[in-house]
Amino acid sequence: YLAKEARTGVEVYVAEKDRNSPERLNLMGDLRRAIDRRELRLYYQPKLELTTGRVRGVEALLRWRHPERGMISPGEFVPMAEQSYLIRHLTQYVIDEALEQAAHWWRIGLNERISVNVSARDLLDSTLPELLEIGLAQYHLPPEAIQLEVTERVLMTDQAYTADAVRALNALGVELALDDFGTGYSSLVRLQRLPVSEVKIDASFVRRLGESVDDERIVRSIVDLVRSLGLRSVAEGVESDEVAARLTDMGCELAQGRLFTEPMPAADATVWLSEHRGRAVPDLGFLPGSEV
Ligand code: C2E
Ligand code: MG
Ligand code: MG
Ligand code: MG
Repeated sequence: YLAKEARTGVEVYVAEKDRNSPERLNLMGDLRRAIDRRELRLYYQPKLELTTGRVRGVEALLRWRHPERGMISPGEFVPMAEQSYLIRHLTQYVIDEALEQAAHWWRIGLNERISVNVSARDLLDSTLPELLEIGLAQYHLPPEAIQLEVTERVLMTDQAYTADAVRALNALGVELALDDFGTGYSSLVRLQRLPVSEVKIDASFVRRLGESVDDERIVRSIVDLVRSLGLRSVAEGVESDEVAARLTDMGCELAQGRLFTEPMPAADATVWLSEHRGRAVPDLGFLPGSEV
């Protein structure tokens, strides 16, 4: 009984991920080594245009296969990295890997824009735009080859601090997307002022379309708002034909989710993109008016 209680105590302690817990410090050391050894991999998930099924970009998502712990989700290690200087290395690594992949895809005619997730801290780093500019030049890519995704909260709360970076990115021609939209506290006025091209509607609202009247209303009003500002809306976490059909009816432009494909390793993504490109549009069962 005592042993069990002691064990539970440890688990609770670990779960809290106390800033200086041994668990956490170990993981951070492992992460630093993993970056140096290039053990982290990017997986790729396409964004599709709902009315045509055309691919309109690919999001890069980090995966870490830890030698002892197995797969660790970015939801676990990215927030930890964000609290230290490690996020800078992580972001540089991700941008470099993404540009290298984009260069490969552009060479073989798959001219897809790759979206990279960046953190609040990255936008405070004045060298980020320069890093992108150098990387694009190195791989002979136009600025359209990459997009940055930042969460809604970043641009809303740190506006004054991030303005310079955002201006420099705009000057460079690199688009910004607002990630996880709906989870923060944006106002119409502020959204209008932000130099973003795309708004990604958080999966938590998208998932229950058709079940929850509230979520239905929220998504519909976001889509209308985004369109009225002349921006593109992207629904995240689309898992069913029914949800895709509702989004299409609402006029949501793009969608991403398991319904189309899970995030894939680069080699699988290359095959998927090549095959998808050749496939006829009516293959998509969810298109309005099609028989399912
Ligand atoms: P995010 O940018 O909002 O990414 C979308 C998440 O939804 C991804 O989780 C993706 O795998 C997941 N997803 C894909 N299809 C579906 C679906 O059909 N349903 C649902 N419910 N979810 C789906 P993932 O890969 O675990 O990443 C979690 C978060 O970690 C990302 O959220 C992003 O904020 C962060 N992240 C991932 N890669 C990076 C990175 O390279 N740098 C930074 N700074 N953050 C990253
Ligand atoms: Mg994202
Ligand atoms: Mg998101
Ligand atoms: Mg998210």
